[in-house]
Parts: sequence; C-alpha cells; structure tokens
Amino acid sequence: MKTELVLDALKRRFPNEPEYHQAVEEVLMTIEDEYNKHPEFDKANLIERLCIPDRMFSFRVTWTDDKGNVQTNMAYRFQHNCAIGPYKGGMRFHASVCPSILKFLAFEQTFKNALTTLPMGGAKGGSDFNPKGKSNAEIMRFCQALMLELWKYIGPETDVPAGDIGVGGREVAYMFGMYKKLAREHTGTFTGKGLEFGGSLIRPEATGYGNIYFLMNMLSTKGIKNLKGQVIAISGSGNVATYTAEKALQLGGKVITMSDSNGYIYDPDGITREKLDYIFELKNVYRGRIKEYAEKYGCKYVEGARPWGEKCTIALPSATQNEINGDDAKMLLANGCIAVSEGANMPSTPEAVKAFLDAKILYAPGKAANAGGVSVSGLEMTQNSMKIAWSKEEVDEKLKSIMANIHEQCVRYGTQKDGYVNYVKGANTAGFMKVAKAMMAQGIL
Ligand code: NDP
Repeated sequence: MKTELVLDALKRRFPNEPEYHQAVEEVLMTIEDEYNKHPEFDKANLIERLCIPDRMFSFRVTWTDDKGNVQTNMAYRFQHNCAIGPYKGGMRFHASVCPSILKFLAFEQTFKNALTTLPMGGAKGGSDFNPKGKSNAEIMRFCQALMLELWKYIGPETDVPAGDIGVGGREVAYMFGMYKKLAREHTGTFTGKGLEFGGSLIRPEATGYGNIYFLMNMLSTKGIKNLKGQVIAISGSGNVATYTAEKALQLGGKVITMSDSNGYIYDPDGITREKLDYIFELKNVYRGRIKEYAEKYGCKYVEGARPWGEKCTIALPSATQNEINGDDAKMLLANGCIAVSEGANMPSTPEAVKAFLDAKILYAPGKAANAGGVSVSGLEMTQNSMKIAWSKEEVDEKLKSIMANIHEQCVRYGTQKDGYVNYVKGANTAGFMKVAKAMMAQGIL
C-alpha cells in the first residue's frame, strides 16, 4: 500500500477534516505490514472503500426553546461500513460536533466493532446542539425534532444508534420514544435504553468497566494482579469517567483526578466511594460542574487545564479527542506513568502516541480499551432480538470475556520482535483484517 498516496488523495477529496485525516493516518500506518501480505486487497481498491463512509446524512433540526424562540441546529449520521453487521455507533451532542469529528468517530467505530467479535458495522452521528443549561423540556423537544428526520435512516437491522458525549439515558429515551411512535414498532433500534423498555444491565457501566478490564489484562502481562498501590489520573466526569473510577476503586486503585471542560480537581487523598457518589449525583441529578467537588471537599481545582501534570502511575483519559498532547505525554512519562488506557476516542495526539510507544509503556488505544460500551450494546441488541433479559452477572461475565478476547487479538497482531506489545498496531490490524475479509467475500459493492 502506498500510504502517503492514499492519504494525499483523501485529503484532497475531503479537505478541512483534520480529525478524520488523523484517524485514517494512524490506522493506515499501522496495518501496512499485514496489508502488504494480501495483494488481492490492492486489486479491489479495498483501502479507499474502507476509508470513505458508505453514506453521510446531514440535516437541519428546528426546535423551540422555553422562551418560545425558534432554534436551529445541524445534525448528522455517518454510516461508515456494514460489512460485518448493521451500522452501529453513538450520537454525540456537543457544540464542537462537525462532519470531520463524526467521520473520524465512525471510521474508528468500524474497527472497534469488528474487534468485539459481535456482528456490528460502524457508524456515528450527532449534532452541534449544546445540551448544557437546557431544561428537560428543551432536551426532549430537540431529541424529538431530530428524530423526525433521523428515523427514516435507522432500524434494528439497518442502523442502531446509542449515546456518546452529551447523550445519556435521558436523551436516548427521548429519541427512542419518538422513533417508536414514527416507525410504529418497539424494536431494539437504540441501545443504552432504560431497563424498563429493553435496556441491558451493565450498559451504563460497560465502557468504564471494560476499560479497567482491558487495563487489568495489560497489567497482568507484567505480573500485576490488582490496582493496589496504583495512583490513577482520570479525565472527564461523565459516563465513561465515573464508571471507570468506580471499577478502579473496587480493585484497590487510588483515583486522584477528574475533570470537565472547565478544569480538573486533584484530590491527593483519593476519591472514595462516598465522594464518587457525590460526583454521580452532581453530574446526573444537578448537572453541575466538577469545581463543586473541590468546594465541597476542599481540594485543589485548576481552571482551564487538564490533569496530566499530576503524578500518577496510570492515566485513563475519558473525556474527549486530542486531550493528551506531546507535552502532556512527556509529563506523564517523567512522573512515572506505566500505563495509559483510553476510555475516550482518540484522546492522545499522534505526538503523544509516539511518546508512549517509544517509551514502551503499556498503551491501549480507545478502539480496544473502550470497546466495552459497544460490546454491551451488542449484547443489548441480542437480548432485544431474543426478547429476554440477562442478569447483571451474566452480562458482566460476557463483557470480561470480550475484553480479554480483544486483548488477545491485540497481542496476536501487535507483538514485536523484542516482545513489546504495540496495542495500536494490534488493534488496528485485527479490526482491519476482519472487516477486509468480509468486504472481499461480499464482492465489489
Ligand atoms: P459524557 O458526555 O457523559 O462525558 C464527557 C465528559 O468529558 C464530561 O465530563 C465533559 O465535560 C468532558 N468533555 C467533553 N468535551 C470536552 C472537551 N472538549 N474538553 C474537556 N472535557 C470535555 O460522555 P461519555 O463519558 O459518554 O464520553 C466520553 C468519551 O468516551 C468520548 O470520547 C466518547 O466518544 C467516548 N466513548 C463513550 C462511550 C460510551 O459508552 N458512552 C463508548 C466508547 C467511547 P463537560 O460536562 O464540561 O462537557
């Protein structure tokens, strides 16, 4: 594969999409060795067909705020690839949402979903709607207005959306409610639904728990069996971050930081179970800011900064893309960080990834480490199709085994001659090979 040529062509065809270019480049650079063993891929122009989404929808959403003003937002759905199953991927509501970000997320999702071993293709969607400060009624009206358009393109065997940044159980429920009404069917078209109407136990916890399970698999290769004595820096304080913290605490880790888009808190005594309960309440009930934690517990709060300068042995970025840059990575390494496992999607810049790989620490990219969320979404789809509900223990066991399986695939494809496991290469290659084989088998489409 002529990686540079492929990338240049994509950049020319899709200019001004830096996040998409970044994600594609990272994957192409790492799959080259395996790709070159298959000349039939080149003949079928597989790489271009795999990098460009199957289709992209963009539409205007019009809704009315509480003051009676008519508002408009843009919304999108990127259906990237359905070679191994129906399109599957979350919806993101955030002011920064734009085609480049959703396109990178849909591209990443395709490989992540392939890694889970479940039959799911890749997609992503969202809107530049900013949910902060909106009333429940405004959130509901926006979700309903968005579904008036989106419902036509999704379905239980076509495309199954879920949550992401700014889209939790409340938003999924409003979107699902409107979908159900318009489509006149009660099917598993969304995952992350409430337990009362088809949701799966452990789905809210799945991404965070899964990240810790993946981390434990990595640590066990170094003979480390629990998190006792480990000092853990987490970013974010949303769904992924809070359940990551919960599982880390259960396994004996000391969590010292959490953040939101305004700043981070540093608690040198560690976030206890009781303090974490406060964060859950703060975020889910009052929809407050992480700063209030510092005010309540009297610890340090740093406005407008990220937590990576604090001394830790494990870093678990769980907020957003490109939140660890090259300098942050250097600080983490200088402070003795031995493992980075990504709860967020693409939180490390290419410079940061290079620094981690050069230092040969345990480094798990998001598409492997945070695949627990979509895995349990896949299990939710299975339960919906079978019209049954598994117990918490059953789902948790399946999640553990999926994360162990993903780890195994990374080791298989990512182990270097010197024994170092390059999890980036491993995850990208394993995910790519599965999708590539399915596409080849299905002919030129
Ligand atoms: P939430 O909306 O629940 O939480 C996001 C958290 O990150 C909030 O604390 C938010 O702060 C913070 N954040 C968002 N944008 C920024 C920013 N630009 N700079 C700094 N902080 C920011 O989202 P999730 O926890 O669901 O998602 C977090 C990450 O995990 C995303 O990258 C997502 O794609 C990824 N992910 C999520 C999965 C899931 O199952 N939910 C599955 C796999 C990956 P604030 O409140 O101030 O906005």
